[in-house]
Amino acid sequence: MLLQGKTAVITGASRGIGEAIALTFAREGADVVIHYYAHKSDPEKNLRSEAEALAARIREMGRTAYLCGFDIADREMVDAELKKLLTAVTPTILVNNAGITADNLALRMKPEEWERVIAVNLTGAFWVTQALMRPLMKNGGCIVNIASVIGQMGNIGQANYAASKAGLIGMTKSLARELASKKVRVNAIAPGFIETAMTQAMPEEARKALMDIIPLKETGKPEDIANAALFLCSDMARYITGEVLKVNGGMYM
Ligand code: NAP
Repeated sequence: MLLQGKTAVITGASRGIGEAIALTFAREGADVVIHYYAHKSDPEKNLRSEAEALAARIREMGRTAYLCGFDIADREMVDAELKKLLTAVTPTILVNNAGITADNLALRMKPEEWERVIAVNLTGAFWVTQALMRPLMKNGGCIVNIASVIGQMGNIGQANYAASKAGLIGMTKSLARELASKKVRVNAIAPGFIETAMTQAMPEEARKALMDIIPLKETGKPEDIANAALFLCSDMARYITGEVLKVNGGMYM
């Protein structure tokens, strides 16, 4: 098993790519902190059934699963919940996976569409990283940021999303330099078109157009990203830091 004895915090783990990473890491021996989206003003959201169901599956695999809920864009909530978590857990791996889209043509993009995407995808990842940096440094840890092919090549209607993901790549490289002396490796994955709730709403025509630019002629699965994250977090990648691993079927080379 590649992650025996490790404890991984995975943001946005209640579904999609985050869920696949949580299950893959648990299969490879890691205990997992399942972070899910909880809104401060909406206590109903503090008991997410998807996150609980995932925790049950991980426990059935013989691992320990913890639940941790917060809005990643809310600095106070991030700090308070992670402070609580750190009394019970010492993480060795962090996967910054939580992310959203709010697409619109640049000319029509509303301030809240721009601000929310940057706040969740980029600033939120930084708040979580900052809050977990000390324990990660103590144990020679590993950080993986889930960026996007869109952050590398841009896309019509996604100036906010592309900026957030390109920012995440810049953050990855800076942190890789900053934390290397503490034996913390920091890498990013840039997924292409992966079948999740985020991409399911796409119109058939747009989907077809996309397929034309994917040399492997198929969409990716959440497990494709989970396997890349597993590699980067394992000792097999012990000499890799500051890297952006493309997992996109050749869509962007
Ligand atoms: P998804 O199914 O929509 O899942 C996104 C996750 O982020 C959910 O668990 C969601 O929680 C959580 N989240 C959203 N806003 C949050 C907030 N404010 N605070 C905390 N958590 C929040 O998306 P996915 O496709 O698995 O994407 C995962 C990551 O991969 C994202 O960063 C995305 O940008 C990136 N990515 C995806 C693709 C793709 O093709 N799918 C391609 C490139 C990159 P709730 O369930 O509560 O909403």
